[in-house]
Amino acid sequence: MGILNEQAVLPAFLDGKPKLLLIDGKLVPAKSGRTFKSINPATGKVLAEIAEAGPADIDLAVAAARRAFEGPWSKWKAFDRQAVLLKLAELVDKHFDELAMLDTLDMGGPIAGTAAKRKRAVGLLRFYAGLATSTHGQTIENSMAGEVFSYTVKEPVGVVAAINPWNGPLGLAIWKLAPALACGCTVVLKPAEQAPLSPLRLGELCLEAGIPPGVVNVVAGFGEAGAALAAHPGVDKIAFTGSTEVGQHIIRASAGNLKRVSLELGGKSPNIVFADADLDAAVPGAAMAVFANSGQICSAGTRLFVERKVHDEFVEKLAKFAKTLKVGDPLDPTTQLGPLVSDTQLERVTGYLQRGKTDGAEAVAGGNRITDAALAEGYFVAPTVFSNVVDSMAIAREEIFGPVISAMPFDDIDEVIRRGNDTEYGLGSGVWTRNINNAQKVAKGLRAGTVWINCYQAMDPAVPFGGYKMSGYGRESGTEHMDEFLQTKAVWIKTT
Ligand code: NAP
Ligand code: MG
Repeated sequence: MGILNEQAVLPAFLDGKPKLLLIDGKLVPAKSGRTFKSINPATGKVLAEIAEAGPADIDLAVAAARRAFEGPWSKWKAFDRQAVLLKLAELVDKHFDELAMLDTLDMGGPIAGTAAKRKRAVGLLRFYAGLATSTHGQTIENSMAGEVFSYTVKEPVGVVAAINPWNGPLGLAIWKLAPALACGCTVVLKPAEQAPLSPLRLGELCLEAGIPPGVVNVVAGFGEAGAALAAHPGVDKIAFTGSTEVGQHIIRASAGNLKRVSLELGGKSPNIVFADADLDAAVPGAAMAVFANSGQICSAGTRLFVERKVHDEFVEKLAKFAKTLKVGDPLDPTTQLGPLVSDTQLERVTGYLQRGKTDGAEAVAGGNRITDAALAEGYFVAPTVFSNVVDSMAIAREEIFGPVISAMPFDDIDEVIRRGNDTEYGLGSGVWTRNINNAQKVAKGLRAGTVWINCYQAMDPAVPFGGYKMSGYGRESGTEHMDEFLQTKAVWIKTT
């Protein structure tokens, strides 16, 4: 691998010792004594040994979260929770270079994204710190006014199981922690086995910020740990981000004690370019709608519909742009695409590249793994644009989770809305046009949780994000995210 990965000064957190679980405010090995290896996807080399949580550790973490929920944490006022979240925001900001480096080493996201990730992570913590003190119930004028008075209070739902994938380890962890803590819940966080380092480090920072022991527990492990957590009778709510298939397991596992569930799942999002769009903006826009994070983004605009009269020209420009992107060592600040997260993901994505070609699509850019000497040990794939794609091909229907665009022509607006909706998913979507009426018609017609007009992947702590259809239910970000962690109690007072 390139020079930077070999010479990089590793964060002190990577001290060669196994990274432990955070349970009840203490760093502990797994009860089984088992560990697993975290791999650097740029080099294929081992980064760290991680304690592997199993069902016994999940029991301990859930018990700790329950004790904290019913004990010290329940006495904290919203203003105290706000203060501690602001303190955590300060610490995350202070240690952000280290946290970003851990993510880059662990899952390959380019270090060039650090500034944007910092803004988002710190912004989420500050935003939910604000909402901690501005959430309230209502006084309600009822039909028996004068005899009985009624009001509602918002109460935390309880112990939250936060189960996350690997594609944004730190950001995804904070995305769930910030509103859950703002609401007064306690959390057992299960990061993905492929990239657990920054969530474990974040757990330490939670303690340093003054969050009481047991309020945040971090249990790295495999699907077995996630399954134990999802089925655990001591858990009140599951906040899950991941694949639709595992999301379905989660729903089944939640049935035992009727847990609340929110699901942020997969996508196969349509991105629609009309001939009247600003094509100079739409070309890089459509490219980075998929190539950012090497395509490992749930809302990636992977089904690219281009109006037929500009289709060939657009696809040619897109292919040219894709070929200018720098794929390589994610620690190099000029790198735009790092590796895929794992050998498994590499196999999955290259399998789809092969499938696309076999099915008759043409790779006008990329289409292969990168095997140059410097990158051969890592899991690098060239940014790929397929043309000659038809809607029924696997590459146009299934979530690849790699840097792969499937471009298809369309002729009119009703047709493209119908084809855009012809998917089991409904997460992101995009439309590029100068015609406000067409933009509005597409925005109204698409069944997706987000529509971006003349932009893509804009995200903000204040704006809700989530899925329609099999992309899940519940919303993250915005005030709606607080509702996922709250329940409403109605109180009646006889007044006569
Ligand atoms: P995944 O396989 O569904 O895994 C997600 C998490 O669930 C991991 O922590 C995983 O543990 C755990 N898990 C696995 N089996 C489980 C079970 N039976 N019960 C409970 N937990 C279990 O997803 P992935 O492949 O890591 O991530 C990619 C997927 O996430 C894509 O579909 C992508 O679209 C989706 N995603 C969605 C969003 C969104 O906001 N909508 C954001 C990012 C990603 P292990 O670590 O051991 O596998
Ligand atoms: Mg890793």
